[in-house]
Order: sequence, then structure tokens, then C-alpha cells
Amino acid sequence: MRSHYCGELNEEHVGQEVVLCGWAHRRRDHGGVIFIDLRDLEGIAQIVIDPDTKESFAIAETVRNEFVLKITGIVRLRPEGTSNEVMGTGRIEVLGKQVEVLNAAKTPPFQLDEHAEVGEDIRLRYRYIDLRRPEMAERLRFRSKVSNSIRNYLDDNGFLDIETPLLTKATPEGARDYLVPSRTHQGRFFALPQSPQLFKQILMAAGMDRYYQIAKCFRDEDLRADRQPEFTQIDIETSFMNEEQIMQITEKMIRQIFQKHLDVDLGDFPRMTFADAMRRFGSDKPDLRIDMELVDIADLMKNVDFKVFNGPANDPGSRVVALRVPGGVRLSRKEIDDYTKFISIYGAKGLAWIKVNDLAAGTEGLQSPILKFMPEDVVKDVLARLEAETGDLIFFGADKTKIVNESIGALRLKVGADMGMVKGAWAPLWVVDFPMFEETSDGGLTAIHHPFTAPSCSVEELKSDPANALSRAYDMVLNGTELGGGSIRINQPSMQQSVFRILGIEEEEAEEKFGFLLSALSYGCPPHGGLAFGLDRLIMLMTGASSIREVIAFPKTQSAACPLTDAPGLVSAKQLRELNIQIRQAKAE
Ligand code: ASP
Repeated sequence: MRSHYCGELNEEHVGQEVVLCGWAHRRRDHGGVIFIDLRDLEGIAQIVIDPDTKESFAIAETVRNEFVLKITGIVRLRPEGTSNEVMGTGRIEVLGKQVEVLNAAKTPPFQLDEHAEVGEDIRLRYRYIDLRRPEMAERLRFRSKVSNSIRNYLDDNGFLDIETPLLTKATPEGARDYLVPSRTHQGRFFALPQSPQLFKQILMAAGMDRYYQIAKCFRDEDLRADRQPEFTQIDIETSFMNEEQIMQITEKMIRQIFQKHLDVDLGDFPRMTFADAMRRFGSDKPDLRIDMELVDIADLMKNVDFKVFNGPANDPGSRVVALRVPGGVRLSRKEIDDYTKFISIYGAKGLAWIKVNDLAAGTEGLQSPILKFMPEDVVKDVLARLEAETGDLIFFGADKTKIVNESIGALRLKVGADMGMVKGAWAPLWVVDFPMFEETSDGGLTAIHHPFTAPSCSVEELKSDPANALSRAYDMVLNGTELGGGSIRINQPSMQQSVFRILGIEEEEAEEKFGFLLSALSYGCPPHGGLAFGLDRLIMLMTGASSIREVIAFPKTQSAACPLTDAPGLVSAKQLRELNIQIRQAKAE
């Protein structure tokens, strides 16, 4: 239908007749002349319709925002003094000769440039209008290009793109399953995959050597901050490669993507052990752009006569840390109170602090509600360990290790952001040497990565001290976000069974749930490993979007619903009968 895209027109087209198709972005009547900003995926062109083209003018008068139009006209330079330098097509306009309304539009629920004031629910309900906004379209286009580069890179490196089933058995990644009832096997359910984990391992057992898939994954989680019940992974698995080689080949992929699409050289990614990351940043996904660290001071606090500190200082399951905030003396009492409230979300009971108003003045130069509980020499030692300077504020965390890590780790990020301490645009790293397991609230163990991750030790060592065993897992972290994670897998049935046992999965249950995997491991399964990147998060970071919902065409809301289609929906009594399912108690909507 069209000869050109609106956004592609420039001075080179002056004098040419063009046929444009798109949406009426805006229509203005200017004393007998009608201006229409016509928009398509490539941009906006200004159309001018004179009253002497009578028929077209009459049609143009009926045009409203978001009408779909086909316009034939001649490209000309804009009159002197009226060009718009911020617009790609700002030096030209199209003198419209024929205007055809291809479709009318009701008044849109929001103007495209007023989206910020409308709730997300409305944006998602009318997503087809929301996605017409150039910035949304641009993000989807960017996403498409990045996916394409990823496919090319993996293809060039010998990876096969292989699809794995969506109707399958549970694949544990730590969330609830989305279940699909079977009609032909009544009382049985498929689970949608939390990841293609087991299938990609089986593909390695099948000799496929290098696999990838841009795969949908489904996790029924209580939606925390920025998660989606279905999301997309760049899923990768390889045979006969160790963790070093896997990290290299995937790091190279990410570096190439950044170079090609953002013109950014990420450089070599540093490595950090899990233990160091937790100790220095209280997090296994540290944001290295913020130059502040947690410093352990339990040894200095063992004998102070202040329960808040000496309790945790003498408890091996606790931590006492200090966080030096350069320039923090300017924080007001109110701001400190707000931070105290902020860390209470993580279970912290309080937030002690010292302001270093004048280091040279000794105790006189300090300001703090806790000074009266602390011997002078201890304060001096703390300041020395932190290399404190005049102008600093020192925050303290003393509690169970988990609470200290989470609360002071989060405080570090928040204070860093609030005080403009985020330096540099990109800080990637690999976190390695994760523990195999962590303790659950009931005292059992759960896999930190997933139960198919290989330990760094022998079966015997693993059995004798599982809580301290390390795994062969690795995470790629970018700016405090986990971009991807993976591991070398267990490829021996006996090791796999031992891990199941440690996790409290008895033989019978293991056989019932994962018998097919154990069987595949026992028929000549090569050493293998891989990882998966979150594509949505990658695109979010690369485009600077505020949420993954901004880079997914049709995301779900925080309550895991789709306002556009109104899914999840009710089903008919007949459908339920066919599935032999009875709803116990339908919740009134
Ligand atoms: N299946 C893992 C996940 O979804 C990634 C991997 O281990 O390859 O997080």
C-alpha cells in the first residue's frame, strides 16, 4: 500500500510523490489549513492539506486521533523558520493530495503522550494502543534485534536451537508449578516448565553437544517486585566443557551484544566468590558501581557492654558490620529514621550510626546516640578499620547473619542511589563457588541453584558435610541484577541420588519424579553444564527501562492476570466435566 515509511522521509525525497500509511497522531486546524502528524513504526511525518484539494480537505476534517490513513502527496521543504530539528523528518512536510480513511478509531482511552498519568492496568488493557507509543515500539524492536544477534552468535558457535515441550512434568526451580489438567488421563496433570532444565540435560545425554533455546518459562510465584509468571530465558547447555569454558563462551556473547547494540565495551568480567560477595556486599549479586562495603567488626565488639552488639558478636550465626558512607554527615535525623524504617522490612530491629564531624577532634568530633555505650578505644579501632574520614557517617548492623546481609546490603544500595554514589554505567561480574545448599526454616536443606547442580567435591565429602559443600555453579551479575546463572551438572546416577537424599527426596519419590533423568544418566551421559540468561532482564537493563513489563509485549499484572484478555478466565461446565474436575468453591469475583 505504501511507498515509504513516514519516519524515513528527508530532504532527499523533496519533489517526490509518496504514499504513506499510518495513524493520525495529531490533527491541527490552522486557519484553513489542516496539519496531520502521521505516525507509523518508523516515525512521524507532517502532512499539510490545503482547502483547494476540496475532497481531501473534507475527509481530513473528519479525521480524529488514531484514525488509520493512507495519504498520497508530494514531499516539500518546510517553509523557512518552521523546521523542527528534534524531529527526524522535521525539515520536510508532505503536501497531501489524496486522503483515504482506512479505518476510524474511537477516542482512545489515553493520548499516546499522556501514558504516564494513566494507570498500568489501563495501559495493559489497551496494550495495542500503549504499544503504538514510539518508545514501546522501539524497545520491542531492540529486543528483536538482540534476540537475533544471540541466535546468530550461538549458531556461529555450533549450538542447535531445539524446542522442548511445554506440556511436561515438574522441573523444580524453586517455584510453584502451573498445572494443566489432562483430559485423556483423568486426574493427572501436566506442569508447564519452570525451565527446560531436564530436557536440555537429556539432550546432552542424547549427544546434541551444544543446545540453545529462547524459551518461555513458567513460575507461579507470589509476585515479588519485578517478576513475571511467564518469562523468557536464553537457555544454553553444552557437553564436554568445564565451567571456565562455559563462562568464556557466554561472556563473549554478552560482550558482543553490548558492543554491537550499545557500542559499549564491557571488558573482562571480574570473578568473585559467593563468600566474598556476601561478606563485602551482603549480596550474591553485588552492584559494584557503588563504592561502599560492609566491614566485619564482631571481633571488636565481643566485650563491649552493649547487648545490641555483644550478643551478635559472640554468636557464630550472627554478624556485626559497619558501613562507611562518605559524606554521610549531611544526612538529617529524618533521613536516618527513614533508613531505619527501610531496613526493618528485612527484619532489622534498629540502625545504629556515628557521624564523624571532625576526626581530628577525637570523641568530641563524633556524634551518635550509641557513643555512651561504647568504650573510646573500641570506637577508635572501628574508625581505624573503616579508614573513616571527617564527613563520614557510619551505619552499623548487628543481628543474625541473614538479617544483617539482607538489611545492610539493601541499605548500601539505597544510600548509594540516594546519595548519587552510583559510578559508571556498567559493572558486570561472575559470582562463583556457591554453596550447594542452604538451610530451610524447618532446618532441612534446599538446593541453592537446583538439585541437578554438581558439587565441587566427591560423594563421600558431600555426604559427610553437605551444609559446607560448594557447587560448580556460577551467576553472571550486571549492575546488581542476576542476568543469568548455571552450573556443571551431575552426570552420575549415584551422585544424583545422594543429592536427592540430602534434600530429603527418598528413592521412591526420586524414581517417580525424576526416574527418566536417572535413567538417562545411566546410559552414557557425558559431562555437561550450561546456563540460562533472563532475556527480559537483559533487555530491561540495556534499554534502561524501569521494569521488565516495559520490555514484554503482553506482560501480566502483579497479581498474575492479563487485563487485555481477562485471563485467567472461567471455563464452561462442559469443559470441566470433560476433565472430570469439579470446582470446590468458586471465589466470587
Ligand atoms: N535452569 C536454570 C534456571 O532456570 C539455569 C541453568 O542451570 O542452566 O535458572
